[in-house]
Amino acid sequence: MEEVLQLYKDLGDEELNYLKGALLYLKNVNINEYKAICETLISIKLSHPEFIFYLDDIGGKAKFIQTGEMFLDKNISSYSVFFHELGHAMHYFGNGYTIPNEFNSRITSLESDSKTSERCLSIIQALKKRKKELEKELGKIILEKQDLENITQISEFIEIQLITNLEDIIDAFYKGESHSRGIRYEKDMFTNVEKGPKSEGHGIDYYSNNANVFLEMIANITSLKCSGLYERYIPYLEYCFGEEFVEFLENYYKIIILDNLPKKTNIENINKLAI
Ligand SMILES: [Zn+2]
Repeated sequence: MEEVLQLYKDLGDEELNYLKGALLYLKNVNINEYKAICETLISIKLSHPEFIFYLDDIGGKAKFIQTGEMFLDKNISSYSVFFHELGHAMHYFGNGYTIPNEFNSRITSLESDSKTSERCLSIIQALKKRKKELEKELGKIILEKQDLENITQISEFIEIQLITNLEDIIDAFYKGESHSRGIRYEKDMFTNVEKGPKSEGHGIDYYSNNANVFLEMIANITSLKCSGLYERYIPYLEYCFGEEFVEFLENYYKIIILDNLPKKTNIENINKLAI
């Protein structure tokens, strides 16, 4: 971790502390992902020294822009948001936001499966129920302050973030409909349309750019991978979209992005840059 922090010396004190916290958190929850992310951060900084991030008051939003800057809201951005935005950065620096050819046909085939909407809707409902229970357990003050150091129920806190990631993936599949209106589908030819609650997500305006569907799925997979609860929650996604589709996203994240980023963890290079 020291190597990473040394490389990111151009960050402000607050940002550097935040990065340290995110890596310490990751070290505790998932040692393999911790190693992979440390290597990735080193590799990105060596090949793209302009990669930097800021914590600021930006109205609850977070974003990565293609000049290499990442913005996180200092009041509400949890580590899960950091790993989500880092997922975008990895995808961009890894292969310039490439979207695999087969992605759209996979989406079309899921869309034509009459069971998909029923499954997604029931998962959104289950996630909402779980989130309510967690919110009750944790209390409003903790959730508003996101004060990780003073939270004893870290695992529950992370679970809430993770539910947001899952709903975000479902919303991406529905190109924002799930967030803006709720999932709707015709249950059968005699009954009315089944309507789901509005989920977390980006909404329909954001998905007028179709490329964002894949980009958001990959960013959320990154965040889920870093959550330490991936194995527990991945069956929810598999239920919605099938094991094959989830495996396809995972492989893309791992093989195309993580393994593909140039690995130059040579300490001499790091020292050169850290002056
Ligand atoms: Zn995103």
